[in-house]
Amino acid sequence: MPIQILPARLANQIAAGEVVERPASVVKELVENSLDAGATRIEVDIEKGGAKLIRIRDNGCGIGKDELTLALSRHATSKVSTLEDLEQILSLGFRGEALASISSVSRLTLTSRPAEQSEAWQAMASGRDMEVKLQPASHPQGTTLEASDLFFNTPARRKFMRTEKTEFSHIDEVIRRIALSRFDVDLVLRHNGKQVRQYRAGRLPSQQDKRLAAVCGPAFMNSALKLDSEHHGLRLWGWLAPPSAARAQPDVQYTYVNGRMMRDKLLNHAVRQAYGDRLPAEGHAAFVLYLELDAREVDVNVHPAKHEVRFHQSRLVHDFICQVLLQVLERQQLQQPRVDTD
Ligand code: ADP
Ligand code: MG
Repeated sequence: MPIQILPARLANQIAAGEVVERPASVVKELVENSLDAGATRIEVDIEKGGAKLIRIRDNGCGIGKDELTLALSRHATSKVSTLEDLEQILSLGFRGEALASISSVSRLTLTSRPAEQSEAWQAMASGRDMEVKLQPASHPQGTTLEASDLFFNTPARRKFMRTEKTEFSHIDEVIRRIALSRFDVDLVLRHNGKQVRQYRAGRLPSQQDKRLAAVCGPAFMNSALKLDSEHHGLRLWGWLAPPSAARAQPDVQYTYVNGRMMRDKLLNHAVRQAYGDRLPAEGHAAFVLYLELDAREVDVNVHPAKHEVRFHQSRLVHDFICQVLLQVLERQQLQQPRVDTD
């Protein structure tokens, strides 16, 4: 075969292989876009576990008519323009890949209206060159993205989709994670026309507690130790279950770095080390932890789905987390009534 430039759709489908693993990954990318757009209310509608329809509607800043085509193109982003930007990312997105990838493996329509535009427009990309067609539409300020028939044109990926129930439970988990990352945003999740979750916005501690209980369960909420520590530009806050409230499953383990949900090895290691041998044999730690640090101290451009980060001073970060948690656990232990063992 001669060397040739891939048609746009195929190139985007290859990129989609990295970020669009299943319906839940589409939901994650789209809700993150809504958050980056400053939305304060996001509604997520799912049909058939996301295989049939994923619809995300927000009240964010919207996209102007003349930028809709760009929004669907690969390597098109409003979030970074220089290497310096990339080295101090505050937005959740920055790769300019999500919309192009998702639209190459589904039937995607993008409808949007920014505040300053009197009418809304809808965009859809089709064909091997992903040519974008625009038509007038009706929409309040904000954006709606609809991705239907996910993986209809990529049979190999479609085969890997699990049952409706399993796929939906992954979506539910993504929404939980996001709900804990932004207490100030209203989130609604519906499945097959039925409302499944509603997380109301609120910044007051009592409202935060309510959301924490809704996401993590009242048992975690009632036992969790609240923490908030700062040292040398690092801040760690959140909630930690004492060993006596260890869980049978590792189902409440949420970590965020600068508001971004993570599954980070270093963080997990630090938590495990802090608990040490305090946990009962079959018990799992439970925590919701937020690490905040200067954006220049952490590299988020490590993994296409952005599940991992790299800290410039990883030892320092690790030891800080470990020490803060250790103090919280030790303090709690001292307050426990003494049990004589001999
Ligand atoms: P990225 O998020 O990495 O920039 P995406 O492909 O996810 O790339 O989105 C491309 C661009 O489209 C974004 O940079 C943003 O300008 C715009 N966009 C996407 N979703 C929304 C939304 N819900 N509201 C406003 N603008 C959006
Ligand atoms: Mg994005």
